[in-house]
Amino acid sequence: MQSRFGHRLAAIDEGVTREGAFYLFTLRLVPLVPFFVINLAMGLTRLKTATFYGVSQLGMLAGTVVYVNAGTQLSRIDSLGGILSPGLVGSFVLLGLFPLIARRFVGVLRRRKVYARWAGARPKRFDRNMIVIGGGAAGLVTSYLAAAAKARVTLVESHAMGGDCLNHGCVPSKTLIRSARLANQVRRAAEFGIGCAEPLVDFGQVMERIRRVIADIAPHDSAERYTAPGVDVMRGRATLVNPWTVAIERADGGTQTLTARSIVLATGAAPVVPKLAGLDAVDWRTSETLWTLRELPRRLVVLGGGPIGCELAQAFARLGSLVTQVEMAPRLLLREDADVAAVVRSALEHDGVRVLTGQRALRCGREGGAQFIVVGPAGDELGAGHAERIEMDLLLCAVGRVARTKGIGLEALGIPAGPVIVTNEYLETLYPNIHAAGDAAGPLQFTHAASHQAWYAAANGLLGGLARFKVDSSVLPSATFVEPEVARVGLNELEAGTRGVAVEVTRLGIEDLDRALVDGVAAGCVKVLTVPGSDRILGVTIVGEHAAELLAEFVLAMKHGLGLKKILGTIHTYPTLAEANRAVAGAWQRKHAPERLLAWAQRFHAWRRG
Ligand SMILES: Cc1cc2nc3c(=O)[nH]c(=O)nc-3n(C[C@H](O)[C@H](O)[C@H](O)COP(=O)(O)OP(=O)(O)OC[C@H]3O[C@@H](n4cnc5c(N)ncnc54)[C@H](O)[C@@H]3O)c2cc1C
Repeated sequence: MQSRFGHRLAAIDEGVTREGAFYLFTLRLVPLVPFFVINLAMGLTRLKTATFYGVSQLGMLAGTVVYVNAGTQLSRIDSLGGILSPGLVGSFVLLGLFPLIARRFVGVLRRRKVYARWAGARPKRFDRNMIVIGGGAAGLVTSYLAAAAKARVTLVESHAMGGDCLNHGCVPSKTLIRSARLANQVRRAAEFGIGCAEPLVDFGQVMERIRRVIADIAPHDSAERYTAPGVDVMRGRATLVNPWTVAIERADGGTQTLTARSIVLATGAAPVVPKLAGLDAVDWRTSETLWTLRELPRRLVVLGGGPIGCELAQAFARLGSLVTQVEMAPRLLLREDADVAAVVRSALEHDGVRVLTGQRALRCGREGGAQFIVVGPAGDELGAGHAERIEMDLLLCAVGRVARTKGIGLEALGIPAGPVIVTNEYLETLYPNIHAAGDAAGPLQFTHAASHQAWYAAANGLLGGLARFKVDSSVLPSATFVEPEVARVGLNELEAGTRGVAVEVTRLGIEDLDRALVDGVAAGCVKVLTVPGSDRILGVTIVGEHAAELLAEFVLAMKHGLGLKKILGTIHTYPTLAEANRAVAGAWQRKHAPERLLAWAQRFHAWRRG
């Protein structure tokens, strides 16, 4: 095997040399894999025979005792009553519990191994129960919950309290969208019988309103708000020193070192800056730097066709910019179903956005005063012959977001991180006392996902070693605030297909919905995925006016196991958009009408008529 597959086995052998004895021990202790398979597999590696023998004997000892004991007890049965003898019952209880106990033991061993290199660094007493790094949604909620549970907690924020959501994300973007929407409504005024000229957009005032709204919301996330329930809020930059110690460069110039039993990394995510030739020569911004803009760019190029790119492209187009949106993938909103993405594309195009999909940015530059970007078909890196040069005044990069992992000490501690910090289902990083939450941990980067994870980070951090809870993100809604809005919870057809989940799709267009017609927003649909033959909801996508608000009913239904029949049996106010939810439940019910019973009912009524 070595001479034939040596090159492939080399990597395995390297791992076996480092950790082989430990893994063999755990495999022997928790007998999940049959022993003969382990013997054969280990025989293919360079594990030393003496190590293999010794570790195997040791690892199998506990299990052997338990099994032999159970066997001995069994052999002693000489009457029917013996089956219920305390010895035999006890032996079988032990047999059942053994894998659990062994697993826990393996967990303890793994922990010890991870912390081994920090043996002398663990303080005898801790300054805090918990230190939270980052004052965005994840960090704020984690520290609030910890303080509410009467723990001593310090929250460290290096920039502005409230994090991305308040300062660069949800709040400014949705405020911009509100102004853009109003401009669009003014344009549509004639449809409603109101004479109006083209809206006069004062972009400076639009941005001024954004600042006012941020200022109005800021107190909700302020240091004072969190100090009151007992959080010790510190302004400064925090770095991990060891698994229990954090060094803080305070904003006032001082430095401080604090220890804590538990540390939560809630450092958020930052926009990806594309590696694009000539980028430095042009005016470019990301969602982090957009909000200081004072003048509406006449020609804007938006790179990226994800939710942020689509929201901003539509908003700027409605405010009067000539927008070109460039997306490498064959379509916008790659995570949504193709029909949903198509609706969004045509809405953007209707608002004047030039949407280029399957196109990649090749380079950009400036000639004289003119700035430009060159795009070409994705996959044709040189853009040979097909490249297009687009003149622009501003480039907005919205090509994704990656966790902020630099400069917080992850490397020194060996905590693995890629686009997000690697965690398990308990949000534990490599070190079980260091958790990560929010955008830093992913995978879904939303404010409500961050707050949701915060509960687990707080509970698992404070109860570390005593109890822990797996994050349940099975019912996590999301929305893209373009018009028409796209909101989703659970599976869509795309995900169901990828995961091989059988679903039944019920789709209801809202073109005929009374309230939608009244409001002049009769476009979109409600798409519900159910278990075939059952009303159990697996996922819902809504496209239309206030889709994110309408979704709440389905989020509640999914969370609490209510099926479509329950939604159908609920009175909805007339005329509201929410009637669409009941209507789709009705559509499902009609597909599952009890035909035989109805045939009998028909006969019954005929008989009653005489
Ligand atoms: C344009 C845009 C629109 C968005 N719209 C929505 C939306 O409509 N709905 C939605 O749900 N989500 C939206 N999001 C996503 C949302 O903003 C994030 O999911 C959310 O802010 C994540 O919160 P967080 O606490 O994980 O991280 P953040 O809010 O980024 O907070 C992390 C904080 O940690 C601080 N920090 C980092 N390193 C250190 C350190 N070493 N020491 C001290 N402090 C540190 C940072 O300064 C930051 O304040 C949007 C994002 C963008 C960019």
